[in-house]
Amino acid sequence: MAIPLNLHPDRLFPADTATRDLARRLYATVSALPIVSPHGHTDPQWFADNAPFADASALLITPDHYVFRMLYSQGMPLEELGIPRRDGAATDGDARKIWHAFAARYHLFRGTPTRIWLDHAFNTVFGIDERLTAESADRYFDRINACLAEPAFRPRALFERFNIEVIATTESPLDPLLHHQKIRASGWKGRVVTAYRPDPVVDPEFEGFAGNVAQFAALTGENASMWSGYLAAHRKRRAYFKTLGATSTDHGHPTARTSDCSTSECQRLLDRAVSGAITADEAETFRGQMLTEMAKMSLDDGLVMQIHPGSFRNHNPRVFREYGRRTDYVRALKPLLDRFGNERDLTIVLFTLDETVYSRELAPLAGHYPAVKLGPPWWFYDSPEGMQRYREQVTETAGFYNTVGFNDDTRAFLSIPARHDVARRMDCRFLATLVVEHKIGEDEAFELAPLLAHGLAKAAYKL
Ligand SMILES: [Zn+2]
Repeated sequence: MAIPLNLHPDRLFPADTATRDLARRLYATVSALPIVSPHGHTDPQWFADNAPFADASALLITPDHYVFRMLYSQGMPLEELGIPRRDGAATDGDARKIWHAFAARYHLFRGTPTRIWLDHAFNTVFGIDERLTAESADRYFDRINACLAEPAFRPRALFERFNIEVIATTESPLDPLLHHQKIRASGWKGRVVTAYRPDPVVDPEFEGFAGNVAQFAALTGENASMWSGYLAAHRKRRAYFKTLGATSTDHGHPTARTSDCSTSECQRLLDRAVSGAITADEAETFRGQMLTEMAKMSLDDGLVMQIHPGSFRNHNPRVFREYGRRTDYVRALKPLLDRFGNERDLTIVLFTLDETVYSRELAPLAGHYPAVKLGPPWWFYDSPEGMQRYREQVTETAGFYNTVGFNDDTRAFLSIPARHDVARRMDCRFLATLVVEHKIGEDEAFELAPLLAHGLAKAAYKL
């Protein structure tokens, strides 16, 4: 027996009818706006080669850590999901079997954003109108695979159908950006741009750091073992990334710590980083110095700077032990903000995995420094609940205009329209509440809705 899959038109809107009605009317003005995706991790090769996606499992399960993490948490071995093992041992690559295992456990995603995103993709992308269960698994698998074989489901066709105005991918400075070159050369009109993510060459604790710096030197013709040459190499790669559309950099540091050291100290830290002798504290100082250097370069070349602190914390017990659970933004960012916080031509977008700092630290910083903007809720908080808490905590101090719209921050391509739709619905819900409580006028809500859905991201990221 098939259970219907319905995307309710009022989903995520408030329950009371007055607010719901206004949220609905606001949403109607933004639901069809094009998608601006200024930060994410889609693979540029999809758009360069435009080859069909392999199958339902390879597209929707294997690459999505939200999906396999939940299945793993309920005792399903990752090998059975076809997740490649680091030791190269065999995994179960049977796509239909993987799909079945997933379908039989789809109830685990009740109440999670993953469920919202997947149902949205099943229904709007593949036209499926029954719920995914163990019983419907085969019909799903066959339908999705049949679709993927059609030209209309190739990456470029989906990009156009999703109404993506522009999407940014994220690449290492060592990446030759061949896929981006190929996209440009192909004459296809889809706008796919890169972003400069220098972690492999600015984090002394990054795997293979010394080799990465050597490669960085070879790639740029700079003497990257000298501090001045190392910085020059960054400037060259940033300029190259800009030729392939980059408007931003992204920094995934363990903490938000910044530094402002003398040139001789920078050289000493670089020497120690390359030799592998650097201590954990020195590595943190070096990364912090590089945030300050990147801000300085951004002031020169106009690239918007994004800082995603805390992302490596779980992988790094030592940093966790030494720097603790909380990312202290106010003190950590002081060296950088002392130098560049008042620059009106610089944009630093701050993200957090610690919601407790929104009202206490981040919103006050964004509500004061011209250079600082607040990124949208990230990672675990990319959910209706996380978005609601975000608006409630930051708006009173930072307003709307110190925020930068939505980031989908994903490599799950099919979830992109769903994620933007959730953000638009939640923002319209928040605006509707402000209107019915007489905090802003209705006309102001109608002016803000398209900005939150589209305009702020486009402006903040210079897209
Ligand atoms: Zn990201």
